Amino acid sequence: MPSSLPTILPTRRLLIDGGWVEPRSERTFASINPATGDVIADVAEADATDVDLAVRAARRALDVGPWRRMTGAQRGRLLQKLADLVEAHAEEFVALEALDAGKPIAASRRQHLPASIDCLNYYAGWADKITGDVVPTRSAALTYTSRQPVGVVAAIVPWNFPLMNAVWKIAPALTCGCAVVLKPAELTPLSALRLGELALEAGFPPGVLNILPGFGPVAGQALIEHPGIDKISFTGSPQVGKHIMGIAAKRCTKVTLELGGKSPNIVFADADLDAAAHAAASGIFFNGGQVCSAGSRILVQNSRYDEMVERLVARAQRIRLGDPFAPGTTMGPLISRLQQERVVGHIERGRASGARVVCGGKAADRPGYFVEPTIFADADSAMSIARDEIFGPVATMIRFEDEAEAVRLANDSAYSLAAGLWTRDVARAHRVADALRAGTVWINTFGPTDTRLPWGGMGGDSGLGRDLGRSAIDNYTEQKAVWLNLAIA
Ligand code: ADP
Repeated sequence: MPSSLPTILPTRRLLIDGGWVEPRSERTFASINPATGDVIADVAEADATDVDLAVRAARRALDVGPWRRMTGAQRGRLLQKLADLVEAHAEEFVALEALDAGKPIAASRRQHLPASIDCLNYYAGWADKITGDVVPTRSAALTYTSRQPVGVVAAIVPWNFPLMNAVWKIAPALTCGCAVVLKPAELTPLSALRLGELALEAGFPPGVLNILPGFGPVAGQALIEHPGIDKISFTGSPQVGKHIMGIAAKRCTKVTLELGGKSPNIVFADADLDAAAHAAASGIFFNGGQVCSAGSRILVQNSRYDEMVERLVARAQRIRLGDPFAPGTTMGPLISRLQQERVVGHIERGRASGARVVCGGKAADRPGYFVEPTIFADADSAMSIARDEIFGPVATMIRFEDEAEAVRLANDSAYSLAAGLWTRDVARAHRVADALRAGTVWINTFGPTDTRLPWGGMGGDSGLGRDLGRSAIDNYTEQKAVWLNLAIA
């Protein structure tokens, strides 16, 4: 397993105003390899002073810099260059995410990197297609709308998909002409620093993209409180998301909040059970279950329940836990010791509540923060393992009798991000998809996302607003209505 960085990164510096600068406090924090517990790098820690400098630089980029005068086509070309550079350096990102986030290289190559590059390409294409409308009114005026960048965007992202989460925010914001201050998660700052280097190489003007590693309560808090921020785009926990919304309310700052999930995956008796078991296993165990849309509640119709439990256990037993750099590894460590302890705590509470562990059930006996793929059978909807977002490799299997009960159980949750259902009955598929309270519904599949489709929750602990697709263009632009009185020459 490589123990050093695959590239020389400016880890002790922050990206502010087009250059790498030391944090004013001169403080650093350790970035840890979760597969071993070893320190990988000392990383610059931004505080309120650095945040202020970055927000001011972003504002200058918008008000007086060349960014404001660039055409959409020119912005698109810069984003396209960044997409090409990320693609050219994809293997470095694969290695960085393996070291810093414990992501198996095979999964990064298959999903994380292609999705990040696709997102940059997609929004590069939008840059010269952000249009308004000519809207005839009751008056004799020429009336039209235009779309303007929302302004300075604070992008705050979590550690589960470090590069992709950052790109999901940065790419649409930049295509719309905004300036961005990105705060990566303190647990996974490295890929964002590499992205910053490539953005400079692509030629983005100073101040357009600022990158500040640091802690949530310090750098993050200073960022959301800064009066120079026009929009906060956040992905993370419901607790922090609600806190951000409270702060944003004071100045009516716009927010998009992509928060947690406890996604139901409903298997009806007429389903293709083999396909359902395959997708349900990757739905909960992909990325060690550290996925906001993880299919953590598997609801199975009574008559096929035992069979589905057996099939899922068989799939879970085939998972290869281990070194993220080994090509055959299918599950890496959890992100931190704290996360490992939290997940084990959830498993203990599940056991105590009477659910039956049919697979796994404990931390793996090896260095690093590994937890065995775990399946609970005979659970019910009132148990904490059916209600709390565990953010670990823990599936909770619940029985249901009929369609009405399936929908009731699926919707009995504080979350509303995503849901899956398995049936060969087309009418039922549409009926249930319609009835589920979820921003995304997968029918006879589970887990895919695509840059072109909106992504977000329907309120509650899953948050509000949408990332991706055309929706993100709405997030990062303001509409302006313009009246031109044609009666005056
Ligand atoms: P997780 O539980 O997935 O770590 P968090 O919500 O704690 O999710 O963290 C997601 C992001 O939010 C991280 O970048 C973190 O630093 C940031 N964050 C945490 N607390 C705050 C805060 N008070 N203000 C702004 N950002 C914060």
